Amino acid sequence: MDDHFDSETLCVEGCTRCSELVESRGQIVDGTGPADADLLFVGEAPGANEDEQGEPFVGRSGGVLDDALREAGLDRADVRITNCVRCRPPENRDPTVEELANCRGYLESEITAVDPALVVTLGKVPAEHLLERSVAVTSEAGDIDSLAVGTGRWPVLVSVHPAATLYDPGQRETLAAALERAAEHTGSGGQSTFDAF
Ligand code: SF4
Repeated sequence: MDDHFDSETLCVEGCTRCSELVESRGQIVDGTGPADADLLFVGEAPGANEDEQGEPFVGRSGGVLDDALREAGLDRADVRITNCVRCRPPENRDPTVEELANCRGYLESEITAVDPALVVTLGKVPAEHLLERSVAVTSEAGDIDSLAVGTGRWPVLVSVHPAATLYDPGQRETLAAALERAAEHTGSGGQSTFDAF
């Protein structure tokens, strides 16, 4: 399954599993941040800025995420950020079920390799994809569920997508509270509180 995944760099090379995304992408956008981060944020898919810069969560929603991380006492340089699919969908549409499935092995390999103290899903698509159930993101924001990959298990904290705060300023508090909970969960020194989960 992970024939294109480099377990050293945590990068995907030369993958052409999603024919439409191969056409729409400029490049494959891999996760960024420390390979042993305590916090792993998972978004949906690269947008135009991410596709251009080759990095997840840049542009406006990236700026919102950076601010929210800072407010929660977290530094972007200390967390890892990745997406459910690594190639930009055309017209910024949602990734299809098939595309999510095609890319899932890479995400699972990344989660297993990073072994974070906490996975944080940003928005509905990653929450429902990883938890494999319907998720009411706003009302469940800050809640912690769990994800099993192989023999491993990780806590997953649900959060709204940073871009939601651009259209609905009322979501700022929801995002801030979720990230505060994420910071608390991993501890200010980055120590996991997984045992309390
Ligand atoms: S989205 Fe993932 S599975 Fe699909 S082509 Fe890109 S890297 Fe491959």
